[in-house]
Amino acid sequence: PFDVLVVGGGPAGASAAIYAARKGIRTGIVADRFGGQIMDTLGIENFISVKQTEGPKLAASLEEHVKEYDVDVMNLQRAKRLEKKDFIEIELENGSVLKSKTVILSTGARWRNVGVPGEAEFKNKGVAYCPHCDGPLFAGKHAAVIGGGNSGIEAAIDLAGIVKHVTVIEFAPELKADSVLQDRLYSLPNVTVIKNAQTKEITGTDKVNGITYIDRATEAEHHIELQGVFVQIGLVPNTDWLDTAIERTRMGEIIVDKHGATTIPGVFAAGDCTDSAYKQIIISMGSGATAALGAFDYLIRN
Ligand code: FAD
Repeated sequence: PFDVLVVGGGPAGASAAIYAARKGIRTGIVADRFGGQIMDTLGIENFISVKQTEGPKLAASLEEHVKEYDVDVMNLQRAKRLEKKDFIEIELENGSVLKSKTVILSTGARWRNVGVPGEAEFKNKGVAYCPHCDGPLFAGKHAAVIGGGNSGIEAAIDLAGIVKHVTVIEFAPELKADSVLQDRLYSLPNVTVIKNAQTKEITGTDKVNGITYIDRATEAEHHIELQGVFVQIGLVPNTDWLDTAIERTRMGEIIVDKHGATTIPGVFAAGDCTDSAYKQIIISMGSGATAALGAFDYLIRN
């Protein structure tokens, strides 16, 4: 069996694997797709000490760094079941079962898509999901935020300080964000809020040039010219394969303590699949290190 088995090969998992392997303990990492979300990221400008890089390049560096150590890397393998017996068992979709004394879950998350024409086509060409990451790319331009929940309104307030104008598009007749956020939003001069509106299409040629929505009250179709669309309708953690023994939030995020421990002894978690406050590369790497050190502490005590 492994001492530490990491499930997930994004920034959190890579960091956890390196920290574990550096303790000289038997470490493995299973990943559906090594690199994780950064494989879909073009420019990265907030990974501190690296002024600018690209996602696939950072993913290659992560893999190279992991392979400096004696880590058993099992790429293109998906976990489908976790069960605690004598050891913690992870069953893969190919049917094999891996055993380990501790497990670090770092299966990440995915942004919920609006699923309209143009969204997939213009991803990284005007369609964005992370205002902390891509907001500055739209400085001086007009951007829309789809979604009027807390994350959408936080994004709109954040973007209003960077871009020329922000249009918020909310499907429901009312915004769902906390009233303190709504008050702040409505105090800003360069924000328009459109409620009861269904996004129909994100338009463009080589990059985004507008958005089309339907006013749900009148069924009239409207088009706005703009250069960026931030989709903010939720981040879904990849945790649906776990059984209920691991405590999660209403959103499905794994609840961890300050050592990265979950409610199952020996099972730790890190990164975007947890209830961490913000979802960023640098934060997921930090929590991966925490979970690995937490797992090591657990091993020397048990
Ligand atoms: P992920 O990166 O999601 O990795 C999860 C890993 O788990 C993957 O290897 C996946 O294949 C694997 N996995 C999932 N389910 C299973 C399973 N059942 N079995 C086995 N493996 C599984 N952050 C920044 O800091 N700066 C940026 O500029 C930035 N830009 C972004 C741009 C885009 C388009 C996106 C989508 C995100 C961006 N982010 C950015 C956020 C950042 O990518 C994430 O916070 C970070 O990747 C989270 O790391 P993670 O390791 O927790 O999860």
